[in-house]
Amino acid sequence: ALTAGIVGLPNVGKSTLFNAITKAGALAANYPFATIDPNVGIVEVPDARLDELTKLVQPKKTVPTAFEFTDIAGIVKGASKGEGLGNKFLAHIREVDAITQVVRCFEDENITHVAGKVDPISDIEVINLELILADLESVDKRYAKVEKLARQKDKEAMVEAPVLEKVKEAFANEKPARSVDLSDEELKTIKSLNLLTLKPMLYVANVSEDEVADVSNNQYVQTVRDYAAKEGAEVIVVCAKIEEEIAVLDDEEKAMFLEELGIEESGLDQLIKASYSLLGLATYFTAGVQEVRAWTFRKGMKAPQCAGVIHSDFERGFIRAETVSYDDLMQYGSMSAAKEAGRVRLEGKEYVVQDGDIMLFRFNV
Ligand code: GDP
Repeated sequence: ALTAGIVGLPNVGKSTLFNAITKAGALAANYPFATIDPNVGIVEVPDARLDELTKLVQPKKTVPTAFEFTDIAGIVKGASKGEGLGNKFLAHIREVDAITQVVRCFEDENITHVAGKVDPISDIEVINLELILADLESVDKRYAKVEKLARQKDKEAMVEAPVLEKVKEAFANEKPARSVDLSDEELKTIKSLNLLTLKPMLYVANVSEDEVADVSNNQYVQTVRDYAAKEGAEVIVVCAKIEEEIAVLDDEEKAMFLEELGIEESGLDQLIKASYSLLGLATYFTAGVQEVRAWTFRKGMKAPQCAGVIHSDFERGFIRAETVSYDDLMQYGSMSAAKEAGRVRLEGKEYVVQDGDIMLFRFNV
C-alpha cells in the first residue's frame, strides 16, 4: 500500500498528530491488524459518498477504504551529514511515497523550539535543505559514472546525463527535484535513484487550540501558505492536540465537538483526503445488500487491475464490469432504475476506472 510519511523538526507536534492517527485507526474495527508496525498508522478515508450509498442500499455492513501514515521521527539540521538519526532517518523517508511535513505555527512558552523561536519558514527550509543535500549526494555519485559513459557514447547514459544536470542545477538553487520539468521518459532514467525531493509533499500547519477555528490572525500560517503556493503545494491547518482528543470519539460526538469549536471538518480528515489525492489515489465502490464498500485504486488503472484490488482471482478471470457512476446512481435512485435509463454500462478490459464508479465485476474462476 502507498504511504505518506510524517516528518518535521522536534517539538512541532508530529507525535501528537501521529497519536491522533493511531487512535482514530484503532477505532476502525475493520482493520484489526492496524498495529503490526508501531510506526504505521492506518486510518479510514472519510467519504460522504459512502454514507449516501449506505442509505440507499441499506447493506448489512459498510466498509470504508483505508490509508497509511508512517511516523518518521528524528530529522534535525545536519541529518544529511549523519547528525541525529541522520542517514537512518533519510532511509525511512526513502520508503514512503509522499511526504507530510508538520510545521509549528503555535506559540507556547513552555514548549521549546529547537531554533529558539517559532519560525515556520526557517523550519521548512532546514528540512527541505537536508532532503536536497541527501539527494545531491546520490545524484553526484551517479553523475560521475554516467558522465563518463556518455562521453563513450553510451546511448542510455546520453539520455540520463542531461537529466542529472538539470536536477543538479535545481539543487544548486536549493530547489527540489520535483520542481524540475521532466518528461515521463526523463523521469524514468532517474527513477532508480529514488530521490527524496521527487516525492510529492504537503505541509501541515499545526496551530493552537484557540486559533484553529479561525486562522486569519495567525501570521505563521499565512507565511506557510505563501511558501507552499510558490511550490504548488497544499497546506492543511490542524490543531494536533484537538485531533488527539477527538480521535477517540464516535462520529456523532465528534461532529458535536467540532461544531462547538466552530470547525467545519476535522484537520485530520482534511489531511487524510489531501494525502490520498496527493498520491494519485481514487475510490471506487462495490454495493450489494451484504456489503457496501469503498476500494482504493491508482488513477489511470483499468478495470481488471481494479478488480485485482479486491482479489487477484478477480483480475485473472476478469470478463467485464457492470459500471455506473455515483452521480447517475444517485440521480436514478436505484440500480434497476439506472439500468432502465441505460446508465449502467458493461465495461471491458480497457476501461479506465473513474473516481466514484460503482462496479460489479464478472469473472471466471
Ligand atoms: P514532536 O517532537 O514533533 O513529535 O512534537 P510533540 O507531538 O511531542 O509535541 C511537542 C509538544 O508540543 C508537546 O508538549 C505537545 O503537547 C505540544 N503540542 C503539540 N501539538 C500542539 C498543539 O496543537 N497545540 C499546543 N498548544 N501544543 C501542542
